[in-house]
Amino acid sequence: MGEIIEIQDVLDPVTFRIGFSVTGEERIVSLDFEKRELFRMHDIRSSRPMACPFLRENSNKKFVCSVHASRPGLCRQYSCYRILVLDSAGNRIGRVTDATRYFTTTNDGLRRLWNQKIAGVVIPDEAYWEEYVEQVLSCAGYRIIR
Ligand code: SF4
Repeated sequence: MGEIIEIQDVLDPVTFRIGFSVTGEERIVSLDFEKRELFRMHDIRSSRPMACPFLRENSNKKFVCSVHASRPGLCRQYSCYRILVLDSAGNRIGRVTDATRYFTTTNDGLRRLWNQKIAGVVIPDEAYWEEYVEQVLSCAGYRIIR
């Protein structure tokens, strides 16, 4: 999303005018009160240059939207994903919601695979868990974006 959402203007320390490079649309967003410090202290784009400028990694190693309450309609409609699952034709058939392990899909085969090999696995570390999920799904022929 870093290529799509751009901060055009800082209106005050917590308020920004942003633009969408694709549509030219503009919007005002504000930092969520409890994420202001996180936003200032931990810009993740040094390690993830393609990330949205409002995405942050919290102390639990979870990625969160720092403007969640005022996030753009595009984000509300499509939601940030932590892991996106594509079939061999490139269709989006499953996703893990941003900052969670909550998985949704309308594909029965993918749901079965998730329930059999991923849902019950105990991997506390978030990074290892993501790697495990990618390995299982990739081996089954799915394409993963994260
Ligand atoms: S939900 Fe938040 S972090 Fe994600 S793309 Fe939208 S503004 Fe950026």
